[in-house]
Amino acid sequence: MQPTIISPRLRERIASNNLLSALKPEDLAIVAPSLQEWEGDAGARLYQPGDEVRFVYFPCGPSLVSFVVELEDGLTVETALIGREGAVGGIVSQGRLPAFARSEVQFPGPFLRLSTADLEEFETRSPSLRHLFARYADCMLAQVFQSVACNAVHTIEQRTVKWLLAAIDRTGDHDVPLTQEQLAAMMGVGRSYVSRVIQTLKRRHLLETRRGGVRVRDLDRLEALSCGCNDALRRHFDQVLAGVYPTLEESSAQKAEAGGKRPGSRMKA
Ligand SMILES: [Zn+2]
Repeated sequence: MQPTIISPRLRERIASNNLLSALKPEDLAIVAPSLQEWEGDAGARLYQPGDEVRFVYFPCGPSLVSFVVELEDGLTVETALIGREGAVGGIVSQGRLPAFARSEVQFPGPFLRLSTADLEEFETRSPSLRHLFARYADCMLAQVFQSVACNAVHTIEQRTVKWLLAAIDRTGDHDVPLTQEQLAAMMGVGRSYVSRVIQTLKRRHLLETRRGGVRVRDLDRLEALSCGCNDALRRHFDQVLAGVYPTLEESSAQKAEAGGKRPGSRMKA
């Protein structure tokens, strides 16, 4: 068999998705020739409920996608946030299945995508590839479990802070380009609730508001206000897929390498 040549550009993009980076070299050689580059704009919908899932999307670098469930009364609630640690689309499904939730790009950026038909074939060829993605699916399920509990019990302030911290860990950037309307739509509450939370955090000098988003000023103090849901998920990832859950220092380092802004000040132990 001819060795697979992976272009430096593709290699760089693969390196900015932790799940793809966790593939064994022989599995990467199977997958790489079928990966397509894709750019996601903010607000772009990967899938609507009922859509046929034809591609698995791997967010690269700062790209972030939310799974959002729309309820009958028009309220929306976010159930999972996926960034560089994961993938969106039928990662372990057999056959092409309809999407259940809406998946929407929250932070724009690069993606790699792979057709589900190709993935299915590759998984039959490689047990280790199938195994890795099954482990990711377990982590994804853990995130949904944690989200159910968090949405039911934790305050809007805790959930807002949790979301900001999860985004910053994945992007390496203290600027969170998300409006209060967008945050409210993810929390499943009216804008005035989120607005109150943001104003309180602002008064305490934890963040400042910017046009179209917020900038976090004091990550450590903000972290103290968050519920433990991000940490619980991180611990599960570390047990099941060590090294795949993003850390701020890793995201910041990649951002700096890509010519971005200065790395964040908070470093995780
Ligand atoms: Zn929580």
